[in-house]
Amino acid sequence: MNLTQLVLASHNAGKLKELQAMLGESVQLRSIGEFSQVEPEETGLSFVENAILKARNAARISGLPALADDSGLAVDFLGGAPGIYSARYADGKGDAANNAKLLDALKGVPDNERGAQFVCVLALVRHADDPLPILCEGLWQGRILHAASGEHGFGYDPLFWVPERNVSSAELSPADKNQISHRARAMDLLRQRLGLK
Ligand code: IMP
Repeated sequence: MNLTQLVLASHNAGKLKELQAMLGESVQLRSIGEFSQVEPEETGLSFVENAILKARNAARISGLPALADDSGLAVDFLGGAPGIYSARYADGKGDAANNAKLLDALKGVPDNERGAQFVCVLALVRHADDPLPILCEGLWQGRILHAASGEHGFGYDPLFWVPERNVSSAELSPADKNQISHRARAMDLLRQRLGLK
């Protein structure tokens, strides 16, 4: 596919910068904020559904091909929760409250049952009604710690143990995390699908 521009279905400037760096310079990512400030309701039950919904909305508003990502943390012991509700797990009270709620939900659960994965799904649509979205999934396997550790990152990073590095995700430098994270894995697949690598 020959793309020069993609609208990213996110108002988050940090995310745009991070994904642009991973994608490379041959495709320019533009913010949906250039076209609209209204965010669609995420009514899906899965990362895939929500990513497609956001990408279609961005393509409809901008008239350009669009990319959306949906991500979160899926904890095995909790049947995949908080999943697509990761950002608002503690009813919108923020990262600290989300982490406290997660620790509480796993109180007394032994290490071997604390498996979890960060999930990132990228959806790319060529136009709003594209019947064949490109879908790329990145999974990052780890385990939920018993207490927060580390100062970097955001969200659940201080509670996410990264076995291949023996540190929490919040103890990785941003550059290191961007090499191995769920978003990096999904973006790697997308670059392959677009023939960029
Ligand atoms: P979003 O898709 O970027 O809005 O992320 C949804 C939520 O999932 C975030 O608010 C975080 O709670 C969680 N999340 C997603 N990716 C990460 C990550 O790399 N580190 C920590 N938390 C994450």
